[in-house]
Amino acid sequence: MEISGHTQLLCLIGSPVGHSGSPVMYNYSFKKLGLDYAYLAFDIKEEETEEAVRALRLFNVKGFNITMPCKTKVVSCCDELSREARLIGAVNTVVNQDGRLIGHNTDGLGWVRSCREKGVEIRGKKMTIAGSGGAATAITITAALEGMEELSVFARKDSFYENAQATVEKLQREVPGCRIRLFDLEDKNKLYQEIGGSDIFTNATRVGMKPMDELSLVEDMSVFREELVVSDVVYNPRKTRLLTDAEAAGCRIVPGVGMLLWQGAEAFKLYTGMEMPAREVMERYFSD
Ligand code: NAD
Repeated sequence: MEISGHTQLLCLIGSPVGHSGSPVMYNYSFKKLGLDYAYLAFDIKEEETEEAVRALRLFNVKGFNITMPCKTKVVSCCDELSREARLIGAVNTVVNQDGRLIGHNTDGLGWVRSCREKGVEIRGKKMTIAGSGGAATAITITAALEGMEELSVFARKDSFYENAQATVEKLQREVPGCRIRLFDLEDKNKLYQEIGGSDIFTNATRVGMKPMDELSLVEDMSVFREELVVSDVVYNPRKTRLLTDAEAAGCRIVPGVGMLLWQGAEAFKLYTGMEMPAREVMERYFSD
């Protein structure tokens, strides 16, 4: 498809954006489905967010994705928020609906879909999740909204701990059907005990990501029962030490690259109303 005077613009804002897989993923999908859209990435610093959104409004773009560090700043620039975006307190997708900017957060849904792709349903399940930053908050909140029955959140007592407290309080108020408790990540015995009673364990911390790729939050291999599903948000490396150990012990694993792909596919659906050719995109751009 040639770019013409009718082509509509979509884009990514944040900083850095040069490494992002989003432009190839979306442009490939637009071409494949014959959609007259083009997708670019713009390097926008946090303090430039409001000005950038004003410009995107003026250019009447079809929509845009937001990456760090602009995800929370965009919240106040939107005319309306989805329930997920409001509860998470961050927006990764904005859809322009006849001039109104609607903010969504598809990170958590991306994780839910990456689990479903591996045959893992989350409704009625118990999950232990480690982390309290952006990825952890999105997954914890979306999992509760999607019908997870019980959540044990383990957070390190660093600058993110207040996030975890706020998330737990919000969910206790807004999703009372989900039992949620907060623990200190330093308490390894408690962590292993909670994983022992869970269907799913998710690492949503930076542990396992380069340069911490030798590390795993689970050092006791007896924690890995065969029925346990182990997921990791880290996608660099593709298979973290946690996932390698869990797989060797017979657990089903859900790698972080799935969340990365499916959060994009969920945004694609919001922009176009169509399913992204996700499996082809995965094979072309996200496999090793
Ligand atoms: P963040 O900075 O918002 O949060 C970092 C989290 O890691 C916090 O909970 C912090 O307490 C914890 N942490 C950091 N160092 C730790 C350590 N040494 N021990 C224990 N906990 C530690 O980051 P984020 O945006 O939530 O990203 C976290 C990871 O998830 C990164 O590896 C990122 O690349 C990945 N991520 C993946 C996706 C995806 O689509 N798969 C999306 C977002 C983020």
